[in-house]
Amino acid sequence: MNTVQDEETPQWKKETKNMVKSQLISRGIADQKVLRVMENTPRHLFIPENLRKVAYRDGPLPIGEGQTISQPYIVAIMTELLKLEGHEKVLEIGTGSGYQAAVLSPLVDTCYTIELVPSLAKSASECLKQLGYTNVIAKCGDGYQGWPEHAPFDRIIITAAPEEIPKTLVEQLKPDGIMVLPVGRFYQELIVVTKTRNGINRESIIPVRFVPMVRPD
Ligand code: SAH
Repeated sequence: MNTVQDEETPQWKKETKNMVKSQLISRGIADQKVLRVMENTPRHLFIPENLRKVAYRDGPLPIGEGQTISQPYIVAIMTELLKLEGHEKVLEIGTGSGYQAAVLSPLVDTCYTIELVPSLAKSASECLKQLGYTNVIAKCGDGYQGWPEHAPFDRIIITAAPEEIPKTLVEQLKPDGIMVLPVGRFYQELIVVTKTRNGINRESIIPVRFVPMVRPD
C-alpha cells in the first residue's frame, strides 16, 4: 500500500516534504499550519519553466525583470511572524511571482497584493487565477500608496526592502496589527512592527537581503 502511494505521490510533493524538513523545521519554523501550506504549495509553478528543476532549492531564484522569488525559509519565517489565525485581511507589497500570496491564501480571509512591474503583476495574477487562489486580489501599482479602498488591514507583509518603515502603510494597519518587512539599504534586517495605541513597536529578527522597494518617478 505504501509503495503504491509513493508511486502516486508527484515528484514536487516529495520535494516540498524534503524542503519542509531540511530547510524549515531544521531552522526552527514550528507553526504546523505554515509547514503544511509550504508542503502543499507548488512553488515550481510560480517560476520560469527552465528553473523548475531547482524550484525547491535552499535559495532565491530569478523571476525576470531583475526580480527574485524569496528563499523558501524566508517565505516561511515571514508567514509565521504574521501570526495568522485565518480571519485576517492581509496586504502584501511586492507580488513578484505570486508565490508568497499563494502561501498566504489558505491562512487568511483575503490577501490583497500590489506589484509595481506591470509584466510581473500580469503573470502573477494569471498564475494565481489559474491555480484557483480566489481570495487573492492583485493589482499593479505603487506599494508606497498602500490600498486605501481596502484599508485598514490586520496584517501587512512587504517583500521588497524600503529604507525606512513606510508611514502610509503603518497608517493602513489596524490597531494591534502586525507588519513584517525587510528594512535598510546595504544592511537589511527583517523586522516585525506592531501597531499600538501609542505608536509602534519594532523588533529585529534576522539580517536579510531583498531587492529594494522602488519609488516610481
Ligand atoms: N513576494 C514575491 C517576491 C517579491 S520580489 C514572490 O513571492 O515571488 C519583490 C517585488 O517587489 C518585485 O517583484 C518588485 O518589482 C516589487 N516592488 C518593488 N518596489 C515596489 C513598489 N514600490 N510597489 C510594489 N511592488 C514593488
